[in-house]
Amino acid sequence: MNLIDTTAAPAAGARAPVEIAAPLAARRADAKRSLAGLDRAGLAAALAEIGVSEREQRMRVAQLWHWIYLRGALSFDEMTNVGKGLREKLGAAFTLDRPEVVVEQVSNDGTRKWLLRLPPDIDGDKPHDVEMVYIPESDRGTLCVSSQVGCTLNCSFCHTGTQRLVRNLTAAEIVLQVMVARDRLGDYPGRDRAVGPGLPTEGDRLVTNIVFMGMGEPLYAYDSVAKSIEVLADGEGLGIGKRRITVSTSGVVPEIEKLGREVGPMLAISLHAVRDELRDELVPINKKYPLKVLLEACRTYPPASNAKRITFEYVMLKGVNDSPADAKALVKLLAGIPAKINLIPFNPWPGTKYECSDWETIEQFSDIVFRAGYSSPVRTPRGRDILAACGQLKSETEKLSARERLALRAMAAAAE
Ligand code: SF4
Repeated sequence: MNLIDTTAAPAAGARAPVEIAAPLAARRADAKRSLAGLDRAGLAAALAEIGVSEREQRMRVAQLWHWIYLRGALSFDEMTNVGKGLREKLGAAFTLDRPEVVVEQVSNDGTRKWLLRLPPDIDGDKPHDVEMVYIPESDRGTLCVSSQVGCTLNCSFCHTGTQRLVRNLTAAEIVLQVMVARDRLGDYPGRDRAVGPGLPTEGDRLVTNIVFMGMGEPLYAYDSVAKSIEVLADGEGLGIGKRRITVSTSGVVPEIEKLGREVGPMLAISLHAVRDELRDELVPINKKYPLKVLLEACRTYPPASNAKRITFEYVMLKGVNDSPADAKALVKLLAGIPAKINLIPFNPWPGTKYECSDWETIEQFSDIVFRAGYSSPVRTPRGRDILAACGQLKSETEKLSARERLALRAMAAAAE
């Protein structure tokens, strides 16, 4: 799913992308594993590996959990209530490393975009790059995370859909995206909290909400997504409640009910069309799970209620899905579903055949939906001065010549 499904050339005055880390070599066979991102069972297994008795594991897991997720510890040495002997054993066997940030972009409106390099999952394999975007508002900070490297689904308006699927992310790699964002923003107790235009001024946290709307279809990476949500929502750690975590799907119907029943986050549907014929083209998974089946799954989504509405994402494509008749059909289609509608102005990427609807058309569409009783915010395009579309940053980086890469690294070094 693409939260910011649109792209634009960097505007004059925008900060240039900064490449701040050299590409990793393939993982060495003797590389230590990071404990950051693991769930409690994973931590217990790691402790067992270094000889911590089963009796002691529960208490040690609680200590690690506190330091890793509540305090954002970067080293075992910070864990002052863990004995020196155990800290040394942990340090000899494991790390608390995060993925490297290879590109960071900061928009004039405070939106931040990071390209992360994940170590290869198989020895000798290449590292993989994924993106995440941070969108600050006065009272919240939303982090859009990826669930796959690439995507299989080829939605015709989406840039990520042009990239081949490499693999699903692990649960730990999803959790680590959130941890990296909080590291970069100083969003842990006792850290230097990031300041700057656009950052939240209310509340004590900078990352308050998570949306699975980055690269990939989260319900095709169900196990990783479900497991990562349990870690993210844990009140003794990162503490981002399930009402603040939204999973956005293109419509993988069999997993929708399961997600609601087993995990219970908020749900968003990448809808974009009200007729099967058009949705087959825009969101091809519709051929497998057409609108009727998809909307029935929404109607019966276990956590949905008036207080927990399902979000329907609708990208505005000129002359394609933006007529008043489409707006009326949308209202009819959603009858009986606790819903809100997000209208997203399309921002074309190179090679796309679509254009964004005129502003007047978007307003007219929004009015019809609003009069029918739905809140229908038109999502303000964010980060337009950086390469803000999911999938775009990765492609742009791949296109950089060796000389440009060197220049970026030199700039980064100079900025330190
Ligand atoms: S499912 Fe894949 S192709 Fe479709 S919008 Fe999401 S990332 Fe893009």
